[in-house]
Amino acid sequence: MTSRTDLVEELMGRFPHVPRESVLKEDLLRGGLAFDDAALTDNEHGDVKPKSYFIFSFDHRTLPELGTAALRRPPEEIVLTGGPYELRRTVVSVRTNPSSPYRVGTDSDGRLRLFLDGRPIADVGLPPMPAYYRHTLANGKSVMEVAPTIQWGYLIYLTAFRVCQYFGAKEECQYCDINHNWRQHKQAGRPYTGVKPVDEVLEALEIINRHDVDRASQAYTLTGGSITSQVNGLAEADFYGRYAQAIEERFPGRWIGKVVAQALPRADVQRFHDYGIRIYHPNYEVWDKRLFELYCPGKERYVGREEWHRRILDSAEVFGPRNVIPNFVAGVEMAAPHGFTSVDEAIASTTEGLDYFMSRGITPRFTTWCPEPTTPLGRTNPQGAPLEYHVRLLEAYRATMDAHGLSSPPGYGPAGPGRAVFSVSSFMDTLPSTDS
Ligand code: SF4
Repeated sequence: MTSRTDLVEELMGRFPHVPRESVLKEDLLRGGLAFDDAALTDNEHGDVKPKSYFIFSFDHRTLPELGTAALRRPPEEIVLTGGPYELRRTVVSVRTNPSSPYRVGTDSDGRLRLFLDGRPIADVGLPPMPAYYRHTLANGKSVMEVAPTIQWGYLIYLTAFRVCQYFGAKEECQYCDINHNWRQHKQAGRPYTGVKPVDEVLEALEIINRHDVDRASQAYTLTGGSITSQVNGLAEADFYGRYAQAIEERFPGRWIGKVVAQALPRADVQRFHDYGIRIYHPNYEVWDKRLFELYCPGKERYVGREEWHRRILDSAEVFGPRNVIPNFVAGVEMAAPHGFTSVDEAIASTTEGLDYFMSRGITPRFTTWCPEPTTPLGRTNPQGAPLEYHVRLLEAYRATMDAHGLSSPPGYGPAGPGRAVFSVSSFMDTLPSTDS
């Protein structure tokens, strides 16, 4: 039987121009990793920055199934270096999976290492607890709950609305556990604010701004579930936009403002821009028409795929094409029972979508699908997509970008192996090196 090590090394050999770091990172993101108890954090009271559960669970088990990792959170991210593959510095978002062949633990010298199939393959660095996480808001809430940072401190992730109004089997995206994640944190008695008051967000940002003396934080993302009616009496553009307005009034230009929201009509998109947002992510999720209709029934019903795409193009006239960066969930194209059954077909379809947007100057980006167990697609595909798909996507992404004369999108920090901080896919690790 082929081991996971064999699979990884075979793909590193077949695709020598894809950084080895990216091959490993994709495998860790699609399949998760296990932690020895010694590698877990002491939550908000230790020296290591804990996993904040910033929007989805991004775990391969539900909280009650995580054992000690449910009581002592794993770190938000890990950074890999060295080992037999001579890895350059690689930041990887943590997706917990107790049965993964990857395990973080200590070796006989007491050093923290990443093991694959029992063999040490990298040194592991843990994110230090940021000074701003050691402070609380006046009402006692933690900064981690209100304004967590990810991407090694680069991005402040403001999930303002922690549930989605696409609700239930007929509306929720079939790979998304935002609503389940909310429920499981509530059931575990963890603090988990459904709608974050603007004042709390400003107070948390004030703490970050004061203590982030190296100015590692460079951007904020406003996001949360889709709003099909209203929240706090506001429709989507005004609900998310008013946070940006308040942030830009209090901290003008301190961070790059981004919003992940539905593809809204042009007048709403203009309002986002007027509120001070600079980068817009109207995520198209999956390119193939049939799969979009099946996987995103809420988006199909309320907006429709063609209209969604048309609105993405329209928004480029408001923000400029470089600043429209729609996401897709890399790997769901291959989910059984409806997805493509060959890597060739999946890559061909996804490349068609990349070409469609990139030929118009719009640079999509992707997150690597984590098959969370409470989602319909995660339940039927616990292994996620084949690693070969993820490696070939990196190749296709870079080739399409080159063909259209584009470079790494703004708001993601430095690009290139050894430099990237974007942690939920390795597209930035695979592009040519840049400083910002
Ligand atoms: S729109 Fe889809 S992916 Fe986004 S939060 Fe709602 S269900 Fe999840």
